[in-house]
Amino acid sequence: MSDDPHDSRIRHVVIVGGGTAGWMTAALLAKALGRRVQIRLIESEQIGIVGVGEATIPQIRHINAFLGIDEDDMLRATHGTFKLGVQLNNFGRLGDSYLHAFSDIGLPLGLIGFHHYWLRKRASDPANDLWSYSLNTQTANEHRFGRMDKVGSSPLGGIKYAYHFDAGLYGQYLRQRCDPQVVQRIEGKVVDVQLREVDGFIESVRLESGERIAGDLFIDCSGFRGLLIEGALHTGYESWQHWLPCDRAMAVASARTEPLWPYTRATARTAGWQWRVPLQHRTGNGLVYASQHLSDDEASAMLLANLDGEALGTPRPLRFTTGMRRKAWQRNCVALGLAAGFMEPLESTSIHLIQSGISRLLAMFPDRHCDPVLVDEYNRQTRFEYESIRDFLILHYKATERDDTPFWRQCASMDIPPTLARKIELFRGHGQIFREHEELFTEVAWLQAMIGQHIEPQAYHPLADALDETQLDAFLGDIRTLVGRAAGSLPDHARFVADHCLTRT
Ligand SMILES: Cc1cc2nc3c(=O)[nH]c(=O)nc-3n(C[C@H](O)[C@H](O)[C@H](O)COP(=O)(O)OP(=O)(O)OC[C@H]3O[C@@H](n4cnc5c(N)ncnc54)[C@H](O)[C@@H]3O)c2cc1C
Repeated sequence: MSDDPHDSRIRHVVIVGGGTAGWMTAALLAKALGRRVQIRLIESEQIGIVGVGEATIPQIRHINAFLGIDEDDMLRATHGTFKLGVQLNNFGRLGDSYLHAFSDIGLPLGLIGFHHYWLRKRASDPANDLWSYSLNTQTANEHRFGRMDKVGSSPLGGIKYAYHFDAGLYGQYLRQRCDPQVVQRIEGKVVDVQLREVDGFIESVRLESGERIAGDLFIDCSGFRGLLIEGALHTGYESWQHWLPCDRAMAVASARTEPLWPYTRATARTAGWQWRVPLQHRTGNGLVYASQHLSDDEASAMLLANLDGEALGTPRPLRFTTGMRRKAWQRNCVALGLAAGFMEPLESTSIHLIQSGISRLLAMFPDRHCDPVLVDEYNRQTRFEYESIRDFLILHYKATERDDTPFWRQCASMDIPPTLARKIELFRGHGQIFREHEELFTEVAWLQAMIGQHIEPQAYHPLADALDETQLDAFLGDIRTLVGRAAGSLPDHARFVADHCLTRT
């Protein structure tokens, strides 16, 4: 829908949906494209937003930087706190606990990763703890937090962090930052979608009021329903439920408790797991479970029986199917957020997937013809990203020795994708982990999950023998000391929040 038929540049973008995905898309496109495009965002208060999703991963800080957001200001507006990682309890065995910490662990030396030296040491000292070399873990254990780019003058990397926040308020915060000259918000319910006869591209959407909104490019941020990508374009959905069997959640907030943890907690239960996300004014909780093994009433009771503070309301049910849309970009429609797919929230990746989808769209920003070469490349990269996250999630279920319930027995015995099987085999045989292409999770993330869930390497890299015993002890000991001291120098997390970003009520 360009004003000049000879000009194929995109001038009018229509976003359907005003949840976290819709407003992130509006804010980022407006900032990147400026007044060259006009953006209209349609949302319906009558329908509302999904309203869960409070934990993020460090990549979200790139958005803040790009949008020029002051982090403290944003956290104040969203009741936010800081997140150093996810504590995973009871996954490998009942009684287990490890942190998937965002920071580095130790320091690579020569051509090989730190963990090879640690594996060598652990062969003679089984109590030597991998996480004693992790700054985020040592900091989290003491409920501390601070911004630290690196450890003093040493080559050790500093604190890597993300946020816990109210995602609904985050969407509203981004909305306020959109230039009203570029982004126009339209309140209304989309009831019909018109396709162009000649090529099946979306021409316009019709609102309940009868108004038609036309555009060159449509972004489907309508949530699980996928109003455009599925409802109008029938793209299809690929379910991964046979690998990731949890398909429901119960969510409830509870009163804040002390201390204020700088991490998300995920505790495996009989047929799924329970999250705990500490915000400034309350704690977010939810039980993610497989309906095949647990009824809604049982899930609700289990959630309420395992809260740290008083429940603030009754549990709210949610349903989902982990998987992805067969094509996130189809003709002139790009789906983002829940409309594009759903990764169950164990590693808090959904908001990140919105962000990376927008980055990819901007990198491949089309003209009105939406060249299939661009579309295919976008879909190929999207699939790679989803599948590599999927594999990381499956690892948490597969790498278990639990046999106390049918759910965990099913997880332990299931077939897994060959891509994941290869990763496990490499690690088990040789202690080797390779991050592939641009996959989201780093070697350190894979390392923590594999060691934390008892995948024991039979060997380490032969180059780790280059140090003699004294040198090895000095290398490891120095890192442990530096990490411990750095963690101990940081303030209490609650104090840090109070001093920098406390929400004024
Ligand atoms: C149990 C659970 C836990 C989660 N935890 C996390 C987490 O910890 N971290 C994380 O990153 N993510 C998490 N997520 C995902 C996160 O909630 C979503 O990715 C995020 O909120 C984006 O949602 P959305 O904007 O795509 O959809 P929604 O919030 O559903 O928004 C859809 C929008 O479309 C509009 N709409 C729909 N139909 C119409 C229509 N016909 N006309 C007009 N407007 C319409 C609605 O009004 C709404 O504005 C979780 C999700 C679930 C289910």
